[in-house]
Amino acid sequence: MTMTQSEIYQELKKCVKCGACMAVCPIYRQTGREEMVARGKLNLIEIIHNNRELPEAWIEAVDHCLLCCSCEENCSKEVKITEVIAAARIHQTEIKGLNKVKKGAFALLKNRIFSIAKFVKLGSLVQWILWRRLPRHSGLVRRLPLPGIDENMVVPILPRRNLDDILKKRKINPQLPSLLFFPGCATRYLQPQMGLDLIFVLEQLGFNPIVPTEFNCCGMVTWGAGDAATNTQLKEGNLKVFNDNAQVKTVVTGCASCGHALKEYDNLPQECEILDISEFLFRHKEKLEQLVAGRNLTRKITYHDPCHLRKGQGITKEPRWLLKLIAGENFIEMRHPERCCGAGGTFGLTHKELSRKILKEKTDAADATGAEIVTSGCPGCLLQLTEGAVVADSSWQTEHPLSLLAELLRNS
Ligand code: SF4
Ligand code: SF4
Repeated sequence: MTMTQSEIYQELKKCVKCGACMAVCPIYRQTGREEMVARGKLNLIEIIHNNRELPEAWIEAVDHCLLCCSCEENCSKEVKITEVIAAARIHQTEIKGLNKVKKGAFALLKNRIFSIAKFVKLGSLVQWILWRRLPRHSGLVRRLPLPGIDENMVVPILPRRNLDDILKKRKINPQLPSLLFFPGCATRYLQPQMGLDLIFVLEQLGFNPIVPTEFNCCGMVTWGAGDAATNTQLKEGNLKVFNDNAQVKTVVTGCASCGHALKEYDNLPQECEILDISEFLFRHKEKLEQLVAGRNLTRKITYHDPCHLRKGQGITKEPRWLLKLIAGENFIEMRHPERCCGAGGTFGLTHKELSRKILKEKTDAADATGAEIVTSGCPGCLLQLTEGAVVADSSWQTEHPLSLLAELLRNS
């Protein structure tokens, strides 16, 4: 995932300046600025790359990208645009360093003493001082004015017990075929119920999901921020876990970004296969169809394609098959389900205004379906969509498709 200098130049030379990337770039759609689209960014990167002087226009162009892969999906020359932009961010970090907030946040991802787990537990004790529960949605908004945080910004309710804590007393059945479950940070620390839902579904299908507590963050966020050193450290930790469990060949995740990142790892153990949960379930469709046995959720459901699932991994039919299985005729497509929701890792936090404009297209599309639930296979997208519902005063809820499936199976 980290490119060498000559690989970067090879990619830059592949661009024929056709402009096909303009039609799909969410940043360009909002700003109308050439330097914000892939063609313009690549042009600037080609001129400036290798220099130690980075003009503001270069920094702005490299910074204004969701790494959503929309341009790559539309590029007939198959330029690895997001990898080039990530490499440019690494170059910028080497010269200017990381900003303090990202530096502090990434330290939590690799620090075993004051870890993200401890940070979240501490936060769960004090969160109610500054935040209040949303009446109609899952999440919190600020109680009082806070610097840099607007009144509609939604943060998740921090749980006292994370997924690792909850699973300590879990009884497993070693007779069943095992697979590794990579929960990702959002599921592990912020939304453990999503992880429990996924484990429940896998057990219903007759599998024994193993969830090693040694897993690190997948590294997507550090890669996107240009922190190559932390990214390498996180990846090496995960590769060690994969190698220590090399007898287990299948790794499943319910997070689109984690799946996209893990599939890009070099040196995965031989025959180790990373699968999004929708891919895995699709391979076991007969068994799952038997379990569901024609029952449907009665609420109207629509679906947002996570960029890292659709454009990063090419997965579109599997989640739709799953949602039709869960909801039948109550599954309705929204217009432009493929368009980015504007979350883009930390982009939604660092470029709030622009991110909200991109999000508005998505919430308008969701509103137009009349759906009661908006689903997506990415915890980051779900949080962004919840914020969109709050800003737009929409009544729909957000759910991972797996949680809906678990609900259906539990109620049978
Ligand atoms: S679509 Fe690809 S080849 Fe065409 S301008 Fe964009 S990056 Fe270059
Ligand atoms: S990755 Fe997304 S935001 Fe970045 S240039 Fe490509 S289309 Fe635009």
